[in-house]
Amino acid sequence: MHHNMNRVTIKTPEEIAKMRKAGILLSKVMETVIKAVKPGVTTKQLDKIAYDMIIANGAKPSFLNYHGFPATLCTSVDDEVVHGIPCDRELQDGEILSIDSGLILDGWQSDHAKTVGVGNITDKAKDLIKVTTDCLYRGIDHMVVGARLGDVGAAIQQLAEAHGYGVVRDMCGHGIGKNMHEPPQLPNYGTPGTGMMLKAGMVIAIEPMINLGSWRIKILDDGWTTITADGSLSAHMEHTVAITDEGPIILSRPEDDK
Ligand code: MG
Repeated sequence: MHHNMNRVTIKTPEEIAKMRKAGILLSKVMETVIKAVKPGVTTKQLDKIAYDMIIANGAKPSFLNYHGFPATLCTSVDDEVVHGIPCDRELQDGEILSIDSGLILDGWQSDHAKTVGVGNITDKAKDLIKVTTDCLYRGIDHMVVGARLGDVGAAIQQLAEAHGYGVVRDMCGHGIGKNMHEPPQLPNYGTPGTGMMLKAGMVIAIEPMINLGSWRIKILDDGWTTITADGSLSAHMEHTVAITDEGPIILSRPEDDK
């Protein structure tokens, strides 16, 4: 999605604690939605589950009406990379589904995405999802004070490309706080030792988008749905992460999760 060009904001520990609350709620929403994923369910039904749960918990869906986006979730199936629009089509056994969601609680944003299989998926699809998950956590490991954005991107790129996968170039992770998209942008590729230095109090949504084939993408006529140019499968994983003197803290994980 689009990016605000204001300055990098440094969050206080109190503000990070509020963002953690938003992240806990978002992780619960995501768990609930994922439990409902099965063949025959529509992405619109998943969207309603997320919307109702966010509203019932006193939060606001951040994607809904963002630059005109019409839903609470982005639901991206198979070769759709990101920004798929929930619809009445039933999910089919063997498909993979990226679910991306964001919410605002007490004025603070959280952003989180996961790719899951629908029913039984191929070993190829399983491996893509596993490697994309590993890319996310490998990237997070590098989100430490004094590291540079290029260190994070390079770690993701090296792991993905070692498996022969393509790393989407045109879209990146982003700072997040009171706004969904703040500077800096965090590409999922890069050169170690380059880019902005990470400081305690930065909060960044890291979101590798990894394709089974080429990294190239295109955007459909709806202006949102982004697909792989070669029709290959794509997976997407995202967490909202705070950079602290004690190391990275994943804000969009469940409450009881380490
Ligand atoms: Mg994001």
